[in-house]
Amino acid sequence: MALVVQKFGGTSVADAGKIKAAAAKAIARHAAGDKVVVVVSAMGHQTDILVDLAKQISDRPSAREMDMLLSTGEQVSVALFAMAIQAAGHKAVSLTGAQIGIRTDSTHTKARIRSISTDNVRRLLDDGAIVIAAGFQGIDQNGNITTLGRGGSDTTAVALAAVLEADVCEIYTDVDGVYTTDPRMLPEARRLASISYDEMLELASLGAGVMHSRSIEFAKKFGVKVLVRSSFRDVPGTMILPADEATPRPASGVALAKEEGRITLENVPDQPGSSHALFTQLAASGIAVDMIVQNVGQGGRADISFTVPADDLAEALELAGPVAKSLGATGLSHDGGLAKVSVVGVGMARAEGVAGRMFAALSKAGINVRMITTSEIKISVLVDRNDGPAAVAAVHRAFGLEKETAQEDGDMPAHRPTKSSPLEVVRRLEGMEDLAVEDCILDSSQALVTFTDLPDTPGVAADVFEEVGRAGLFVDMIVQSHPRDGRAELSFTVPAGDRDRAIEVAGRIAAARGARVADVPQVAKLSITGVGIRSHAGVADRLFKPLADEGINIDLVSTSEVRLNVVVAAEQGEKSLRVLRRAFGL
Ligand code: ADP
Ligand code: ASP
Ligand code: MG
Repeated sequence: MALVVQKFGGTSVADAGKIKAAAAKAIARHAAGDKVVVVVSAMGHQTDILVDLAKQISDRPSAREMDMLLSTGEQVSVALFAMAIQAAGHKAVSLTGAQIGIRTDSTHTKARIRSISTDNVRRLLDDGAIVIAAGFQGIDQNGNITTLGRGGSDTTAVALAAVLEADVCEIYTDVDGVYTTDPRMLPEARRLASISYDEMLELASLGAGVMHSRSIEFAKKFGVKVLVRSSFRDVPGTMILPADEATPRPASGVALAKEEGRITLENVPDQPGSSHALFTQLAASGIAVDMIVQNVGQGGRADISFTVPADDLAEALELAGPVAKSLGATGLSHDGGLAKVSVVGVGMARAEGVAGRMFAALSKAGINVRMITTSEIKISVLVDRNDGPAAVAAVHRAFGLEKETAQEDGDMPAHRPTKSSPLEVVRRLEGMEDLAVEDCILDSSQALVTFTDLPDTPGVAADVFEEVGRAGLFVDMIVQSHPRDGRAELSFTVPAGDRDRAIEVAGRIAAARGARVADVPQVAKLSITGVGIRSHAGVADRLFKPLADEGINIDLVSTSEVRLNVVVAAEQGEKSLRVLRRAFGL
């Protein structure tokens, strides 16, 4: 007898007929002898309708009352779902988040789960009932209703699957599975038979709306097997798996974050601690910063740019203003009309020329790249908002993602839950959804190449990396700063053993383009790995402060959901490692 969690999204329960059809799926599973927990979203666009209603009453409705309001959507659907099962002659009980015992913190409208009690659900299951759980909601320690953030029913489902040690968590939705990119935007996108947790985490947090990214944090931490499949068609779907069981492709998917904002603090004195002051403020307001780029700077001053969701831009600007002033920045600029395009693949680090291929495709489409950051499994570029869809299409094609692969559904690897090591980490946590840092590693074998004064024209990054690739240099991190006065700065790291050749190649590239190459120092890269690195707003803060306190300057930063990399001077490597290990309790 298996225990199955089935989650039905809004479109899957949009009307009475669809609720009956979804209920029939749960009944069939139960009739086959399995224990079934169903997690349900609000019907159709009900949550949007409620948000809209609130806006008609007040410009700034209180977050507590928003949660009170929004949680009603799911309360309607669980009751109807249970009635549908009962009408078909089976036992069902609906439960709100509070009735289940989903305890969260008090961050209304984006609360995080602390703990879930299983007693009530287990008792009902043992009693032969199908349990219908309201998605997206919980209760804080004072009894207030909270919600987990838009799309949060996925997180309820996977978290319940984790604590109940379910055999599988099935996510029923309006697409056949996880695609190489949003199939509504690019019809040539293909369904993936499987994808790794890390890739799905990146794609989800970089804009792929098919799964709530926090649900994949749970899946990875607790080894929950997740199957995304269609509510309406009986087709195989997509299995989300640990990396060692998924196919390592250089590119698995492309994501678009349609509405990004960028803020730049200009000419900040380049000294330890500058970044810390800024990111502490943002973290305190729960604003998750994504691309962080600090250029190498001239005359002891540097520009610091970062991106935030466009919705958070106004608040981020309000906070950045005073910080910029106190740091002695000479200006503060921003842009709300941007989009972020990311390509994600666990096999990327081992494949050559991945970045070059992406930049070349964008260049050919005439799209100007405003900022670049990379991590081991993703490359993100910032482009003008209007260029977003064309950029996705160009990048998707550049990696041949529209083509069928040899991967067959029948060959889907068997899932072996790898619960032991993630659980070790989770045991140290106070709350189930806390940041889980696994390790901090030091790589002292890199050299940092920086071009300053590169012309800001479409294709310049493609051009540079084509030449770098031709010279056989293996590039690791890439960061391109936000251009100012028509000039951009581009940095990348190469193996230290290739330093001399890198200097020669870079010199040639710079000379041909009126740019300059800064010193090419040997550097140390420190990588903090774990789960929830970017979605927990305070991580950058926890990293910058202790380094600043020790007088260590950061040359480059890159973030991803599973990793945060910083580059420091080579001679500071060992010390930085000690400082960070202490800061993260490792
Ligand atoms: P639900 O209401 O079932 O939770 P969502 O609307 O939240 O459904 O998520 C499904 C939608 O996600 C799809 O209709 C699709 O347009 C969108 N989507 C975005 N990126 C992807 C992707 N890579 N693969 C599949 N669907 C995607
Ligand atoms: N009903 C909520 C929303 O629309 C939660 C969810 O559907 O996952 O965001
Ligand atoms: Mg959803």
